[in-house]
Amino acid sequence: MTLYNILDRYVFLPIGDLVYGSRVVAELKEMERNDHLSEESLCDMQNAKLQKLVKHCYETVPYYTRLFDKLGIKPEQIRTRDDLKVLPVLTKQIIRDNYNDFLSSAIDPKRLKRQSTGGSTGTPLKFCTDSKEWSAWKASTLRAWKWYGLNIGDKIFSLGGNSINQKDSLFSFKGLYDRVIMRNYKFSSADVSDECMQQHYEAMMKLKPAALRGYGSALYILARYIEKKQLPVCPIRVVLTTGEVLVSDYRRKLQEVFQAPVYDAYGAADGGILSHECPKHEGLHITEESCVIEITDKNGIRLPDGVVGQVCTTDLDNYAFPFLRYLVGDMAYIKKEKCSCGRGSRLIGEVLGRNGRLVYNKQGVPISPTMLPFMLYPQLDYHKAENRKLYYKIDKFQIRQDAVGDILILLKLVDPNEPKDQFDYILTNYRNHFVGSEVKLRFVDEIPTMPSGKEDYCVSEFEYKNTNIQ
Ligand SMILES: [Zn+2]
Repeated sequence: MTLYNILDRYVFLPIGDLVYGSRVVAELKEMERNDHLSEESLCDMQNAKLQKLVKHCYETVPYYTRLFDKLGIKPEQIRTRDDLKVLPVLTKQIIRDNYNDFLSSAIDPKRLKRQSTGGSTGTPLKFCTDSKEWSAWKASTLRAWKWYGLNIGDKIFSLGGNSINQKDSLFSFKGLYDRVIMRNYKFSSADVSDECMQQHYEAMMKLKPAALRGYGSALYILARYIEKKQLPVCPIRVVLTTGEVLVSDYRRKLQEVFQAPVYDAYGAADGGILSHECPKHEGLHITEESCVIEITDKNGIRLPDGVVGQVCTTDLDNYAFPFLRYLVGDMAYIKKEKCSCGRGSRLIGEVLGRNGRLVYNKQGVPISPTMLPFMLYPQLDYHKAENRKLYYKIDKFQIRQDAVGDILILLKLVDPNEPKDQFDYILTNYRNHFVGSEVKLRFVDEIPTMPSGKEDYCVSEFEYKNTNIQ
């Protein structure tokens, strides 16, 4: 540990909590205490938090008051995660139709953090959280970093899109928090040209980060560039991937080029899920203290461990805009086996439905698929309120790449009578990235699902054969 690590943990992080009204220090202490609890103790803790949340939902959230009364359910009936089955699952459509009724009357509207999904499941959604939820999220991440020998205050080189790399001014509190406390140096994965990769490489060498973090596909493009140019790499302790499914050959390449272990994470801010790989690499440890994860069929029937189904979550920390049994839109399974590291938390096996494999333009330039939903926002920026307005006119979307590398964007609008020309910016965004490809935008009534039944926002049937760039 360096002096900066110590100052960060014991001085800067508590100051951050004071200024931001968060409780990361307290949450982190608790999570570190829980790290090696048995499955039974974790389950007891989860059930206690669940009972408190359900009571809060019934008493302060109009949607749940109505739902419980209609079904004749009393909050006291839900005592364990098995009891959740008496409730129907919550879909994005239900939340959109009842948005205002999901806000808890017990939360000061000034404390709400308005959020939206980056669209990785192909269905836009706006929702709210508060600082308690945010604190638990940060604490879970910091605890996992410790598993890897990474401490708060170690420098992170972060390469990704808006979902992990929101750019805030260094003069804003959020910007300062990210730079001084999280020491996160953010770089955009929107442009993946060789010139840009050279700039990223030079920035990385100058920064000498302890960790690289980002979309697996974006880091893979950087790794391949470094390999192609035979450039030396500064010592990196760990590579942290997130935001999309990490393809196994990308993982191998990252390990090989950066000479460091790769740890994957799976999260969904709307569902309050955060799960991290531990050094045993046997799956992703669920943060059981902050979220109940069930794997269900579409109707909410719980599936046994080992069987792939819908990820259905109950976020135990979001008291502002609570979701009970929310279908995130991803598919995954929970492993039957526990991890050999001895932790009591369950492991998520493979996550399906978040495509991490690269797509290519006609010149063979790869594009991270996780960038594709951001191109549905004007200026690729989903943090601007006016950009979100247009985005929320989209009900569902799918980006298809056919056998010759051209791009077809399918949009299903919330209101089919909406003027179509207001979406012309989407064509411009895609044409800028898919240089030389034919880009078409088509408005449809339904988005096709995959033969497996899963919904995927990016469907690529185009395999790039040029071995020079692999
Ligand atoms: Zn483990």
